[in-house]
Amino acid sequence: MMINSYTQSLCPVCLKRIPAERVIRDNTVYLDKVCAEHGACSTKIWQGCQEYSRWPSTVKSNPVALGTFSAKQGCPFDCGICVDHKRPACTVILEITQRCNLKCQVCFANAGIKSGNDPTIEQINQWYETVTAVNHHNCVVQLSGGEPTLRDDLPEIVRAGIKNKFDFLQLNTNGIKLAQEQDLAKKLAEAGLSSVYLQFDGTLDEINQQVRGRNLFAIKQAAIQACADNNLGVILVPTLVPGINVDNIGEMIKFALNNTPVVRGIHFQPISYFGRFPSQPRDADRLTLPELMQEIEMQTSGKFLMSHFQPPGWENAYCSFHCNYIAFKDGSVMPLSSKKKTDSCCLVSDQTKLKTSNAVDFISRQWKAPEKSSYTTKDGCCNTSPKNANDSVDEIMDLDEFLALSRNNAFSVSAMAFQDVWNLEIERVKECCIHVMSPDNRLIPFCLYNLTSTSGQHLYRQTV
Ligand code: SF4
Ligand code: SF4
Repeated sequence: MMINSYTQSLCPVCLKRIPAERVIRDNTVYLDKVCAEHGACSTKIWQGCQEYSRWPSTVKSNPVALGTFSAKQGCPFDCGICVDHKRPACTVILEITQRCNLKCQVCFANAGIKSGNDPTIEQINQWYETVTAVNHHNCVVQLSGGEPTLRDDLPEIVRAGIKNKFDFLQLNTNGIKLAQEQDLAKKLAEAGLSSVYLQFDGTLDEINQQVRGRNLFAIKQAAIQACADNNLGVILVPTLVPGINVDNIGEMIKFALNNTPVVRGIHFQPISYFGRFPSQPRDADRLTLPELMQEIEMQTSGKFLMSHFQPPGWENAYCSFHCNYIAFKDGSVMPLSSKKKTDSCCLVSDQTKLKTSNAVDFISRQWKAPEKSSYTTKDGCCNTSPKNANDSVDEIMDLDEFLALSRNNAFSVSAMAFQDVWNLEIERVKECCIHVMSPDNRLIPFCLYNLTSTSGQHLYRQTV
């Protein structure tokens, strides 16, 4: 056993801040911590052949203090955001309803089929103004829930965002209403929506049954088609649950690629245990980022290599990875950022490295629909490429063509490993750039907003 480094975390039972150690045992990094009152616990945080200590070796943005709330009790108890916070938001999530038309086993928002008071359009306008005051529009606004499409005034909410000068508005949805309600995608696109962040847990109905309680694959296909018809870019967002859909990763990537250019990428989220998972999970029930990179490489037969993936340049390096590609008509891809293949653990290549210093630019560029859509239907879903796309990387002729391809045929593979009460590390939340707007106008890092104790007590959600 070797101690790698020290940090701070929370007791899963009483939510008190306690010291924690990152400890290496059998090539796996664990977060070990002891609460004087409630005892010890240990959680796997990093496993696989991507070496932990050499991972964050790429460009690192300078810390920026933007918060206005005073730091009275110390992190993570002063969110608002407080003066100790190190990153401005790159994405702000507005929960515009707690109602939902699914009742999933896996739910960050702990939503359900329930009535209740949605925030008014006036309150949402106030949220937009708060985000503007703190972030000066330099962020993505994600309309979320619950299921935001249950609001009849959703186009009006999108228009209000545009009026407040946010130029990248994204809808976080399960896709059911987009698939079933004629003209909803059209109305949202006309209102100014840029992108759809589509819950997508697998290509098999039995996976959807297990995770979401319904057969949803045909619905997802119809939702994607509605987005294609209305020039809305789509990001597929699978929640990965060991034992349920981890072995479907390769098929999900294949499906995403077959639906470019309307599908702009796939963003994996290994399950974290908050919301409706208040009891301590086993390590076998977790998937760490290196394990996920390995699965992607194996299940795509090396088309997407571990060595392609980079840590983020904005949030904490251990929160996410990504790679941007150009997707060709023949199904091949070209990475636009990667580590050298021979350096399995971590020298960064100079070649065509995408600037990661501005996460918002990245999201806008990668996740918006192509400028000219020329989608036609194929087998009940979307065509694989624009009509003028090259067949393969060998056919790229000049810089102009390359730039057009990198815009119109962009495809990204990325992941974020959310933290729960067992694996929370204080440095990571201090460098969080995904913030949720609380009902009382405060910006709270997403992981902290959703975090629960073993008894289901929240740190922030429903307490502010
Ligand atoms: S997470 Fe950020 S805003 Fe919240 S208490 Fe810690 S430093 Fe402050
Ligand atoms: S939401 Fe959680 S995992 Fe994502 S950047 Fe913030 S702290 Fe990291």
